[in-house]
Amino acid sequence: MTPTTTPTTPPEFAWDRAEPTSPERRAELLGTPGFGAIYSDHMVTIRWQAERGWHDARVQPLAALSLHPATMAFHYGQTVFEGMKAFWRPGGRRALFRAADHARRFNRSARRMAMPPLPEEDFVAALDALLLADGAWVPPARGHSFYLRPFMIASETHLSNRPAEEYLFALIGGPVRPAFAAEPKPVRLWAATDYIRAAAGGTGEIKCGGNYGGAYLAQRQATANGCDQVVWLDARERRYVEEAGGMNLFFVEAAPGGPRLVTPALSGALLAGITRDSILRLAGRLGYQVTEQPVTLDEWEAGCREGRITEAFATGTAVAIVPVGHVVSTEREWTVGGGKAGPVMSRLREALLDIQYGAAPDEFGWMRVVATEAGDR
Ligand code: PMP
Repeated sequence: MTPTTTPTTPPEFAWDRAEPTSPERRAELLGTPGFGAIYSDHMVTIRWQAERGWHDARVQPLAALSLHPATMAFHYGQTVFEGMKAFWRPGGRRALFRAADHARRFNRSARRMAMPPLPEEDFVAALDALLLADGAWVPPARGHSFYLRPFMIASETHLSNRPAEEYLFALIGGPVRPAFAAEPKPVRLWAATDYIRAAAGGTGEIKCGGNYGGAYLAQRQATANGCDQVVWLDARERRYVEEAGGMNLFFVEAAPGGPRLVTPALSGALLAGITRDSILRLAGRLGYQVTEQPVTLDEWEAGCREGRITEAFATGTAVAIVPVGHVVSTEREWTVGGGKAGPVMSRLREALLDIQYGAAPDEFGWMRVVATEAGDR
């Protein structure tokens, strides 16, 4: 499929140019990006009021927001966000990965939190506008990318415990290197049994701020136990594997017809990752059998000990795909896939990165090539 090219000027945005960061300083920052610490020169904001709907769309210099202490987002947690990436492609063009899918998930999150959805085309126009302004911030090295953080907060000044009548949508972004090294090191997961992340009917299947704050204590336990991330179990029985930190999980099983990929079914408590969906589709395309089904921690352990589960890996925007090397809990510990990255994971990872970086055809229509003022370098 041919990637779509966006119009160069989304007309609905009022533009206020930032004093650009000097090319020398920008080059220095692009050389050491880390994750989430460096921001490009601009931000996009759009406001919503009950009587006016969405209005006042702006591209403006990145700056602190000034908010009254009674801003509702501070008190009742109406905040939602997305995390997505733009990639540098051959010829210096830049492209967003699965922009419309992120727009749809953002709106699912907004609806669940009784917040107004932002029309999909406005969400995508905001992404286009930030990249049009700050395309020079998309790093060229494979593995590196430009991370975009769209979010929405209840911006009404009021202490009533009810949905706000004013909201602020904002978009910021910045260069990032992969959260894990180019050849990803297998992660150690801590099976959380003291705390749960979400239950069906709650907010686990959307991206609201509270899901993340509520996970930090378990994440601290994981770190204290020498692990990188938490693996969350279901709220009711604490037996079923749901997801790992900000990532979805996959297991590779040896099967007669070739390796079979299994991922926990969407139970209503876990996030439907865009990377998860991409891997399911790529795996099918590469000829693997794929199954979405409930998986217990016991089955995972037994599968590894009996040699049926040959690999496990985690997927998410930040990391693309990383292998799981070990699982640890208060009672037990086991090794997955010999504690090393496996061939199925590596093949899927390369296939995904090839599409993102334009080294392979965009056969699923996932990439949206954007215009940038930096031009095609
Ligand atoms: N689960 C959670 C809880 C997450 O925050 C994320 C990151 N958005 C994921 C899974 C992976 O989702 P995606 O592939 O869309 O980044």
